[in-house]
Amino acid sequence: MTTQPLVPTLIDLPRPLPPLTYLAPAGLPAGVRVRVKLRNSAAVGVVLGPDAEEPKAELRPIEGVLDPFPLLPPKLRELLDFAASYYGCGLAHLMAICLPQAVLADWETTLPDGQLMSNLRDAEGWAELAALGETWHRGELSLPSLFHRRSLRGAGLTEVRRTELPHPAKVSAIQARLLLALEEAGGAMLETELLAQAKVSASVLGTLERHGLVERVRRVDLLSQKREDLFHKRVVLNEEQVAAAAGVKLDGFGIHLLYGVTGSGKTEVYLDLAERVLASGRRVLWLVPEIGLTPRLLSRLEARFPGRVAVGHAGLNATEKQADVMRLLQDGAPLFVGVRSAVLAPQRDIGLIIVDEEQESSYKSEEHPRIHARDLAIKRAQIEGCPVLLGSATPSLESWHAAQTGRYKLLRLTQRPAGVNLPTVQVVDLRECYKLQRKKVIFSPMLLKAMGEVLEQGQQSMLLLNRRGFENFWMCRACGETLDCPHCSVSLTYHKGAYRLRCHMCGYETVPPEVCTKCGAEHLRGVGEGTEQIEDQIQALFPKARILRLDRDTTTRKGSLEAGLLAAEHGEVDILVGTQMLAKGHTFPLLTLVGILNADLGLKIADFRAAERTFHLLTQVAGRAGRAELPGRVLLQTYSPDHPAIVHALAQNFEGFAQAELPYRQGMAYPPFVAMSLYRSEGDSPQEALETLQKLKTRLLTVAGLRMLGPLEAPIARTKDRFRMQLILKAVTRGPLGEAMRVAPLTPGGLITLDRDPLNFGV
Ligand code: ADP
Ligand code: ZN
Repeated sequence: MTTQPLVPTLIDLPRPLPPLTYLAPAGLPAGVRVRVKLRNSAAVGVVLGPDAEEPKAELRPIEGVLDPFPLLPPKLRELLDFAASYYGCGLAHLMAICLPQAVLADWETTLPDGQLMSNLRDAEGWAELAALGETWHRGELSLPSLFHRRSLRGAGLTEVRRTELPHPAKVSAIQARLLLALEEAGGAMLETELLAQAKVSASVLGTLERHGLVERVRRVDLLSQKREDLFHKRVVLNEEQVAAAAGVKLDGFGIHLLYGVTGSGKTEVYLDLAERVLASGRRVLWLVPEIGLTPRLLSRLEARFPGRVAVGHAGLNATEKQADVMRLLQDGAPLFVGVRSAVLAPQRDIGLIIVDEEQESSYKSEEHPRIHARDLAIKRAQIEGCPVLLGSATPSLESWHAAQTGRYKLLRLTQRPAGVNLPTVQVVDLRECYKLQRKKVIFSPMLLKAMGEVLEQGQQSMLLLNRRGFENFWMCRACGETLDCPHCSVSLTYHKGAYRLRCHMCGYETVPPEVCTKCGAEHLRGVGEGTEQIEDQIQALFPKARILRLDRDTTTRKGSLEAGLLAAEHGEVDILVGTQMLAKGHTFPLLTLVGILNADLGLKIADFRAAERTFHLLTQVAGRAGRAELPGRVLLQTYSPDHPAIVHALAQNFEGFAQAELPYRQGMAYPPFVAMSLYRSEGDSPQEALETLQKLKTRLLTVAGLRMLGPLEAPIARTKDRFRMQLILKAVTRGPLGEAMRVAPLTPGGLITLDRDPLNFGV
């Protein structure tokens, strides 16, 4: 019963393709999501508007309209437009971050005039619907039952998952229905939702569970890990905190940097401001680098603002994400806490944005679209007309410099809270150890002695090494050949537990050869220890100790990192071994010793931010030992005790580090003194990759104020059999970089990708 003619309409898709033209009902507003067929698969795209050009081929009609009207609040749509042009990505890619794919296809509600909304849809009254949507976004129209599946809201916490067991040869029709529903949801669903969707009774689920086909698990509910001792404590802000909070003007846009050591009370300032914003009827967006590591924060929030907090994080399944987004769209959670993607959360009328630990690199996406949540948070605050508060104990040099030069307002907290002690940090010079022992030293005698004492006293130690696997690479001592990935220009890393040599770039793996693949000698030897080997050696040195290793290899299962950290927090672990994962978040009451096995690893990376990253990591790890009641001690092993990053980390002196590092950045023309863009190209041969970038460079010669470096081989010159080159653009302001994008627009899916404000130069 179509009443509207179908017209050629431009649809953006979350694929590496330019927008495509489909036939869609006339009057469908831009920003509405539609389902389309792309070759033979289904995709969700976003309407951009009518396509005025004469169609070149026969056009396909869209499969269906997903949204009654653009679901994103107008100010968020403005932010997306900005982000799309700034980062050079399509709207559909960004939209997929705002609204999970499966969200909200089955909307329905009764309109104020008593009419069902679906009548309008059936009559294709798109313009009328769009007008309704605008009224709704302005908060002038309440549509409390807009989305069918509201029952999800308080959904139970038991999740049903498919097990590894294969389907049995025979299942009953009702059992099949349940299994199918589960399969369609990606193998896991909340129990209440599953039963409702499959329309089966709990007994069917019970039977399948007894047969081992599904399992019921209590989802790790971060909000429920409450801590009696923390959550009802309401503090009176000290003078500094009062001054800091007063420094944030809530009635307009402004950028603030709250600088204070860990434990100086930054979170209490955030809470105070959030409370005032919520009381005024506006919303709060609160960004954290990694949600799994902040259970205490979540319980503090829930205690302070009961029932008003929603949490978005990567660990959520589709159903939970959907419930989340619905709460936001319906204003059911005025305070939204989330990771990077939350900066695009469909929240309206935001009165304050908080970016905690603003220096964290996890705010920057290393995949397309390569957004930076902190930078977008600032832009969002500007669009919303509200303040943004960046917080850190060790700010990024970008933010610090902006605060020094007055672009951001600097707010300081200088006091250490009572009962929290600065750990003593000692440096262990590995060169001296080498001289004495005449061999490479992994654990210095000083560290081993300290570990023994700590163990005897029933306390905990933590060993940090930023390299996973057992051995970094294998080499033949006879011919010097290293065992490299056949597809990438990196060495393979030996994983003893799995008995495999693995490529950390592409995932290629192979059984370790008995003899050298080049010369046939039996002199293969592993070089460069990783966390897996550290665990082995520590087990041999302290056979009675309970050891827990946490790195990317031991925490692939959802929730395993959190579970491990909780176990450690409860004193079930004597020695923690791990990568930088260990540096963040948790407080371990029994942790009194931190050993940094090789502080130099990060300094060796060819990246101008290597020192800054090392400084952040070292101070963060050192901070772990200072959070217990017991006095903490940090032993920092290094071959370069005079490096500024190490010297200042030892003294836990951020300002000293910034003072040493900023002139270097200025002298070398690196951020924060210039803006950068990184273009990467790929090709079947180095020549192809090079020529692609040379052509780009030629086109950019006309852009004023641009400095170009390259094209050069990328640090990892080949991955997955593709050769890689890069071209770096620098400019004193961002203008020329935007101009470059206009002069030489990249074709989506082409051989060149763009990374604006790149953080990672090591790959
Ligand atoms: P940060 O966010 O800077 O790490 P927090 O706000 O978490 O610091 O504060 C650290 C600890 O000190 C928390 O337990 C907090 O409740 C407590 N605290 C902060 N400010 C005060 C205050 N003014 N009075 C009493 N306790 C405080
Ligand atoms: Zn590889």
